[in-house]
Amino acid sequence: MQVQKPYRILLYYKYVPIENHEQFAAEHLAYCKELGLKGRILVAPEGFNGTVSGTIEQTDKYMADLRKDPRFADMEFKIDEADQHAFKKMFVRAKKEIVTWRLEEDVNPNELTGKRLSPKEWYEMIQRDDVVILDGRNYYEYDIGHFRGAIRPEVRSSREFPEWIRKNLADYKDKKVLTYCTGGIRCEKLSGFLLKEGFKEVYQLHGGIVSYGKDPEVKGRLWDGKCYVFDERISVPINRTEEDVVIGKCYYCGKTEDRYVNCANPECNRQHICCPECEKKYKRSCSDECREHPRNRYVEEETVASHA
Ligand SMILES: [Zn+2]
Ligand SMILES: [Zn+2]
Repeated sequence: MQVQKPYRILLYYKYVPIENHEQFAAEHLAYCKELGLKGRILVAPEGFNGTVSGTIEQTDKYMADLRKDPRFADMEFKIDEADQHAFKKMFVRAKKEIVTWRLEEDVNPNELTGKRLSPKEWYEMIQRDDVVILDGRNYYEYDIGHFRGAIRPEVRSSREFPEWIRKNLADYKDKKVLTYCTGGIRCEKLSGFLLKEGFKEVYQLHGGIVSYGKDPEVKGRLWDGKCYVFDERISVPINRTEEDVVIGKCYYCGKTEDRYVNCANPECNRQHICCPECEKKYKRSCSDECREHPRNRYVEEETVASHA
């Protein structure tokens, strides 16, 4: 029998008008802290986007309380089990948008968005010849895992997508374009943007990669590698079949590897894929300059360890 883990990580969002979003954010922060949750929530006039960790009791209460609010009554929560919290602190921030796009003309996903596909529909669709699969995330998320055959977006943030799409995808306007992201939120506007740009048929993976990995029928098939997540786990497995493979490559030696580390230079902090051998050899630093930095954390950790 599988034992239930004591913690949970929730991932959720909703595009719904929130009045006085700054006040809402302040009150929600106080409430989350009192409940004992940790994580990161963004509140904007257009909606709500969160990922939090807590015990089973805390997360149960949170979901029930949130659904009492008519605006969030149909909120969909993606739930992962965990051994501990996935965050150190609790943040609730008032923002202009729940995903920063800064589009010239904003898209309201409640009015214009790509057709939603269930994991099973998605699995069938991505195997067709007349489709283009577009990863709706950033290149560093793509590099440790993505759907087989998906286009790698050379963007570091959602904001860079419009320009990149105009430059690189103009030839695909008559194809079926399939977009996906971690939990679905980024595709809500991305797919709407594509439609506005003249792409004729645009689809999105409902519930994102996370829901796809949990689907009991498709079991994450045709997903290669891991899924990058924005909490302390850094990445989670998706493909639960024997086809599971590692697709990342060590930044230094090129060996197959899927662990991300942060550069040991506290002023750089750049995330890069690094094998355990190279971590030691290159002091977990992304450049010579970072390696020689006077406050290099790797050097510090090693010094502490050798005196312990
Ligand atoms: Zn290496
Ligand atoms: Zn660095």
